[in-house]
Amino acid sequence: RDDNRRRIVFGAPTGPDSGPSHAELMLEIGPALARGEIRAVFQPLVDIRSGRVRGLEALARFESPTHGPVSPARFIPAAVEAGQIFLLTTTMIDLALRVAAPLIRDGKIDFVSVNLDAAALARRSISAVARSALDAHGLPYHHLVLEVTETSMCSQEAVEALRQLQAEGMKIALDDFGAGYSSLGELARLPADIVKIDRKLVSGIGTQPRVTAIFSAVRNLVASLGIACIAEGIETREECDALADEDLFAVQGYYFARPMNAEALAAFIGKAGRES
Ligand code: C2E
Ligand code: MG
Ligand code: MG
Ligand code: MG
Repeated sequence: RDDNRRRIVFGAPTGPDSGPSHAELMLEIGPALARGEIRAVFQPLVDIRSGRVRGLEALARFESPTHGPVSPARFIPAAVEAGQIFLLTTTMIDLALRVAAPLIRDGKIDFVSVNLDAAALARRSISAVARSALDAHGLPYHHLVLEVTETSMCSQEAVEALRQLQAEGMKIALDDFGAGYSSLGELARLPADIVKIDRKLVSGIGTQPRVTAIFSAVRNLVASLGIACIAEGIETREECDALADEDLFAVQGYYFARPMNAEALAAFIGKAGRES
C-alpha cells in the first residue's frame, strides 16, 4: 500500500501505459512549445461520393521527452491549466496553414480546420492571430475552419468571439455534436457553418436501425437550418455504405484515413486525386 502511494506521488513508471501526471504535463508543455516539439498531424475529410479530399483537420501531437507520446485528451487540459493553450492554438494555426496553404492554392483541398478550446476563444486576439496567419499565406479567410465544442460556448463572450470570427469570413464548425448533454435547441443560438456529428451517433449506422434513424433525423435537422454536415468516426465499410445515401458535406474516420504527417498526406492526396 505504501508502495502504491509512493508511485503515485513521485509519478514513477508503473507499466507500459503509465504516462506523465497532470502536474508533470503542465510543467513540460510550455518548454515543449517553445522548443517546437508540439507537432501537427492531419486527418483528411473526404467527399464520400468522389473520394476527393475536401479538407484536413489539424490535430496536435506531443511526445513527452520522459514518457513518450501523450494523448491530446491529457495534454490539452494541461496546456489550458498551465496558461499555454493560446500559444498552442496559434502554433497549430501556423502549422496547419503551412501544410494546407499550398494544397489549397493548387485546388487540391478547400479548407483546413483547427480545434479551438474555450480558453483560447476567450482571448480576443485569437482573431487577429488567425487573420495575420491567413494574410501571411495570402489565403482568403473562408479556407480556415475553427472547430469548437458546445461546452466551450457556454459563455456569452465565447459566442460573441465566434460571431466576430464568422463575420470576418472564417468558418465555424460545431465539433462532437451529439456527444454531450446539450440540447438540440443550442443549435439555434450558436453561430455554426458546419456541424460535425459525433462518432457516438455514427457508430453502428447501417446495421443498427435505431442508430440509422437517429442519424438521419439529426442530419435532416442540421440541413434544415442551412448548416453543412460532417459525419465523424467512420470505421467500417457498412457505416460508409449507409452514409453514402445521406447528403453530407464530408466524412471523416479511420475507414478513410488516419491522422498522418505532412509527407504521408501528400502521398494520400496524390492517390485520392488519381482515383477520382
Ligand atoms: P476531435 O476534434 O473530435 O478530433 C477527432 C478525434 O477523433 C481525433 O483524436 C481523431 O484521431 C479521432 N478519430 C478520427 N477518426 C476516428 C475513427 O474512425 N475512430 C475513432 N475511434 N477515432 C477517430 P485525437 O487526435 O486523439 O484528438 C482528440 C481530441 O483532442 C480532439 O477531438 C480535440 O478535441 C482535441 N485536440 C486535438 N488537437 C487539438 C488542438 O490542437 N487544440 C485543441 N484545443 N484541442 C485539440
Ligand atoms: Mg475537432
Ligand atoms: Mg470531432
Ligand atoms: Mg471528438
